[in-house]
Amino acid sequence: KAKARFRGQCIFFDATDSEEMKNTIAIERELREGNLEQELVLLFQPQYSPSKKRVISFEALARWHNPRLGLVSPNDFIRVAERSGFIQKVTAILFRKGLAELKKWPDDISLSFNLSARDISDQAFVLSLLAQIMKEEVSPSRLEFEITETAVMSDLATASTVLDRLRSSGCRVALDDFGSGYSSFEYLDQLPLDKVKIDRSFVRKVPHSIISREIVAAIIALCSKLNLRCVLEGVETQEEMAVLAGLEPDLIQGFLFGRPMSGEDAGQLIRDQQQSNANQTVLPIQSA
Ligand code: C2E
Ligand code: MG
Ligand code: MG
Ligand code: MG
Repeated sequence: KAKARFRGQCIFFDATDSEEMKNTIAIERELREGNLEQELVLLFQPQYSPSKKRVISFEALARWHNPRLGLVSPNDFIRVAERSGFIQKVTAILFRKGLAELKKWPDDISLSFNLSARDISDQAFVLSLLAQIMKEEVSPSRLEFEITETAVMSDLATASTVLDRLRSSGCRVALDDFGSGYSSFEYLDQLPLDKVKIDRSFVRKVPHSIISREIVAAIIALCSKLNLRCVLEGVETQEEMAVLAGLEPDLIQGFLFGRPMSGEDAGQLIRDQQQSNANQTVLPIQSA
């Protein structure tokens, strides 16, 4: 076991820790030296409205194609970018790319964009995103920002102010991964929100667990009482869908309705859907 001393404290690393350390260091180096403008891309995952029987929005999901690291998952690089101070640079690049794609789509399609803790702890940065929306002449109502409770936890007051600002500018705010944390319900009261995304950890258990189904049903009912839209995240199978559809969520997102796809493919999906709506048929469900 490797052992390191930091300020008199003993910290033990096991093999996986030191692997992770190496990864973190490599990711940090590439964040500094890589060509992020070129290497960062967005994929877009459809969000399907069961009542409208069509896709009404896409969530932008980051991918990083780095020549030395290969394909890096956002779960890996967002965390490192946060810690090492690169996150706003990353977010700014991704947001510009997201807006460029959104501009190509019809007005009734919107975009959900993930923000992380350091993004929303900085009011000036959030204002720069709003300025970008104005400059690109996109209607703010077509933009939704997704935040997680971990991102607001450390400074709830600043987060509230920033989210108010986004909403008063006409953008929407969604609480992501709802139910995966510790005190989720408190945030419904404390944060200015438009939407709640119910975490996949519940959705996954629904076919086999009556309790999970009741929890999802209760959250959906609560959202409706609080005038919040709700999204079911990570619906993968027809089996899950059969149970969940009856609960009448506002939106469903998951591999069953579409995996994260390129901007080009998203554009094609929108055109296909316009075509099939004109023919009075519903969007065919893609197999996962
Ligand atoms: P998230 O915002 O909760 O996004 C949903 C994640 O679930 C995505 O993973 C998506 O690909 C995955 N997913 C969607 N449907 C299904 C399904 O049916 N089954 C399963 N198993 N998974 C599904 P992804 O793209 O790897 O992103 C992971 C997380 O990284 C995101 O979770 C988000 O927290 C973060 N992230 C992604 N892009 C960005 C970004 O541009 N900025 C920031 N700050 N965070 C991002
Ligand atoms: Mg999200
Ligand atoms: Mg989520
Ligand atoms: Mg997540």
